[in-house]
Amino acid sequence: MRDRDFSTVLLDWYDRHARVMPWRVPPAARAAGVRPDPYRIWLSEVMLQQTTVAAVQDYFYRFTTRWPDVAALAGADDGAVMGEWAGLGYYARARNLLKCARVVVGDHAGVFPSDYKVLLGLPGIGPYTAAAIAAIAFDQSETVVDGNVERVMARLFNIETPLPTAKAELTSLAARLTPKRRAGDHAQAVMDLGATICTPKSPKCGICPLSEPCLARAGGHQGALPRKLPKQQKPTRYGIAYIARRSDGAWLLERRPDRGLLGGMLGWPGSGWADAPQEAPPLAARWQDPGIEVRHTFTHFHLRLGLRTALVPLKAMSDKGVFIARSDFRPSDLPTVMRKAYDLAAPGLAVD
Ligand code: SF4
Repeated sequence: MRDRDFSTVLLDWYDRHARVMPWRVPPAARAAGVRPDPYRIWLSEVMLQQTTVAAVQDYFYRFTTRWPDVAALAGADDGAVMGEWAGLGYYARARNLLKCARVVVGDHAGVFPSDYKVLLGLPGIGPYTAAAIAAIAFDQSETVVDGNVERVMARLFNIETPLPTAKAELTSLAARLTPKRRAGDHAQAVMDLGATICTPKSPKCGICPLSEPCLARAGGHQGALPRKLPKQQKPTRYGIAYIARRSDGAWLLERRPDRGLLGGMLGWPGSGWADAPQEAPPLAARWQDPGIEVRHTFTHFHLRLGLRTALVPLKAMSDKGVFIARSDFRPSDLPTVMRKAYDLAAPGLAVD
């Protein structure tokens, strides 16, 4: 099959089977001239980094209801944005989201640039996201390569080199197939194929529009591709979170420094995370050890977080964090690991 025929077949399949997504302009509407909103494409692509479509949809609805365009987001309160992002993980993305919105408003008159290289200069936008915005929002002939696309290319062309070594080769194969016209739909078609047909386990080759030219299927070893180098074992780190509640119901919380893990998010004061847990109470109190711990896995390590809880008097003060009134505290503003700690500790800290 010639390179351009791959795209013709894929686009034909996409026209009939495109997934419905809240940020997507379906192929029929696109053909009728409806253009995607670059703000929504950008927001969805940032949210989708390291996350699934299913996990993102509710966040996307909440964000676009609260901040319907880039100017609204640029004017948002930092804490409100971090709160809405809580639970999505990889919190540097939320900080960069705000920075990027402000640069688009401040330096680009509120209009997203369409050029790949200019997009690449915006905060939080790497090669993948720049290509996705340029292709999907502006139909530029850019090649979008995520895990789905890598898998489809490795199988179509029977690439035995393991990832991540094979990345450059898979990207160049994906670029070869990228058409000049309908580049945005093509990019979404490959991703949809990878997500729904050419799945990591048990690919549905029987209903795949590309089964005929697919070399891995012909060899019968599609399930073994793409090959991957063995992952390194993650180390385990330990910490202690101190959950203090005042007699009026306020909770002691601190905003974590902007840089570093969970940067800019609310959290319980505590020790750093190290090879062994270290006590570091934020104020003098009768701390209880409820004998439970939170287990959470980050990209590079597992965390075991011990808990200490205390009910403290109204006059209690701490130079680590501030007491947040019960009426202002939303557990949903906490990142997942801190939320887990709250869910475990809160039942033992009831006040009238
Ligand atoms: Fe993937 Fe099978 Fe289609 Fe090949 S034929 S692209 S392995 S689903």
